[in-house]
Amino acid sequence: MLVSILDGYTDEPSRLGVPPFMAAYPRYLAGAVLDAGEEFEYLTVDQWRKGRRPVGQVLFIISNTNVPGKYLRGTPVSDRELIQIQREFDGEAFVWSSTSSRGDVDTLAHDVLTTGTRTPRRRTLEEWREWSILGAEAIGQHSDFPDPLILELDMSFGCPRFVSGGCSFCPEIAYGEPIFRPQEDIVGEMKALLKQGATNFRLGGQSCLFTYMTEELGQDAPRPNVVGSQRAFSKAFQN
Ligand code: SF4
Repeated sequence: MLVSILDGYTDEPSRLGVPPFMAAYPRYLAGAVLDAGEEFEYLTVDQWRKGRRPVGQVLFIISNTNVPGKYLRGTPVSDRELIQIQREFDGEAFVWSSTSSRGDVDTLAHDVLTTGTRTPRRRTLEEWREWSILGAEAIGQHSDFPDPLILELDMSFGCPRFVSGGCSFCPEIAYGEPIFRPQEDIVGEMKALLKQGATNFRLGGQSCLFTYMTEELGQDAPRPNVVGSQRAFSKAFQN
């Protein structure tokens, strides 16, 4: 089965996804589809506007710009376009928003394709590791590949101040308690992307770099883990 991934772009405080940036969401989704034993195609909403249409049997649309800005290379999908894309598509279509949908889009796709279940859930660290590597091949289908495409790499997920309800302006609190990715997993993903021809990266996915790998989660102001952040950056730069 061919699964279509339509990237309507995401833009969050700590995760950029409007070209020239490519968020990790569609790559994880591609990895989950491959892990489920299916094929994928990836297209952006800007390619759709130029006339390309998804040709898979199932469609996943990724959307959400909760910190909209002035974009120079791409325009996020609008509500009107979302309706039109679904109306035109001849198959089942899922619309997933990075902060208003519950669970991850990659777990949704994997579970739908393997067991038919649709219960929202977060990916495990093992799935995160595996799908980030498997899905690296999606970058070759992005119209900005290989340059000026900038690939977002997630260092963590969630809000370090989850105990006090976070800050009023930031949606990261919706993800709850942070999950930190081991440095080896970030570097493993980076290597897989380099192998596919990637040239530009951005270490993101953390709204607070200083609390990456903090040992004081659960306190309102966790103390920074300087060694943890330093290790992650030095390992990434060695590549
Ligand atoms: S503390 Fe939490 S809610 Fe506040 S900016 Fe950081 S991630 Fe966002």
